[in-house]
Amino acid sequence: MDKLNIKDLSPKDIEEFIASKGLEPYRSRQIGKWLYQKDASSFDDMTNLSKELREALKESFVLDCALELSDEQVSTDGTRKFLFELWDEKRIEAVLIPEKSRNTLCISSQVGCALACKFCLTGTVGKIRNLSPSEIIDQYILVNRYCGDSVTNIVFMGMGEPLDNLENLVKALNVLMDTNFISLSAKRITVSTSGIVPKIRELGKEVSVNLAVSLNAPRDELRDEIMPINKRYPIKELLKESMRFPLPPRKDLMFEYVMLSGVNDSIKDAYDLGELLKGIKCKVNLIPFNEALPLSYRSPSRDSVLAFQKILMSYGINVRIRKSRGTDILGACGQLAASYPAKSATIKARAQGARL
Ligand code: SAH
Ligand code: SF4
Repeated sequence: MDKLNIKDLSPKDIEEFIASKGLEPYRSRQIGKWLYQKDASSFDDMTNLSKELREALKESFVLDCALELSDEQVSTDGTRKFLFELWDEKRIEAVLIPEKSRNTLCISSQVGCALACKFCLTGTVGKIRNLSPSEIIDQYILVNRYCGDSVTNIVFMGMGEPLDNLENLVKALNVLMDTNFISLSAKRITVSTSGIVPKIRELGKEVSVNLAVSLNAPRDELRDEIMPINKRYPIKELLKESMRFPLPPRKDLMFEYVMLSGVNDSIKDAYDLGELLKGIKCKVNLIPFNEALPLSYRSPSRDSVLAFQKILMSYGINVRIRKSRGTDILGACGQLAASYPAKSATIKARAQGARL
């Protein structure tokens, strides 16, 4: 059997491996630091571990980069889209969105997505496979290295439904957040979901991170139409479960609302949404639909977005209009499909070079 990539192990898995060898628990913290803080490229680099332990690690695991960075596209607004190739030649994308006070990396959790939301290009691909923990983590590690350690926040809003890959998501989150591993604050990580209700509960039992719920419609019959998952987990159940989710201190639940012209952007929809969310401590992000062929929905007019926002504000709801970033490189929400050909050998060399 092929050896496991050690980066597919959570901190707890490494502790268990260490315990199985009868060694002291602090050894797993040392391994975490070598892997994620000191960028070891082989087990032999881990000089404060005994030779026996290094040999035992080599016997059980490999230490490899799970992805190859094969292309980068830069938008006129500064957004950068990265194409990665996986071991089986499948492709995924991640998008870096630079802002004044933060640089947010939007990462993928699956190749494609099974949930088939009508307005989403990833949904048209169908689910091809889950990403492993190392494939999730390495998107962050590679882009962060490539961009001079400048990534401050991570959102799981790239390709795929993170809660449809819960086990690997939780392992990756634990590596990202553990202070002896990547040590990113939970406040800087957001998991976005279309609303697989029982999995929201399971995630909350495992970790506390920011949660964004892709609501996109204020009534079940409309949500059923554009997000088939709603037929299994309708709005009322979704809201109830989301409100119980253990967020980091002083953070609010987020709702995403993709505005589709003539579908869910009317004055009535705004009032219905206001009624639905009034009194819930939350933030609402209005996302004007990003057009992408072959999807036939249209982006709403600026006026209808502003009118929608005003109505929600009259309910005391904290609502922001999300600027579309990177549309010229198909890098905005819902536009990721990794469909363009990989090109440069140079970029591969730079990414690998940066790693060593
Ligand atoms: N599967 C998860 C995360 C990935 S999608 C989820 O659905 O939440 C990330 C966000 O992009 C979601 O809020 C989704 O509603 C939004 N989105 C999808 N397609 C879009 C499009 N074409 N334009 C704007 N936003 C879109
Ligand atoms: Fe999947 Fe999210 Fe796209 Fe829906 S919006 S198809 S859940 S990636």
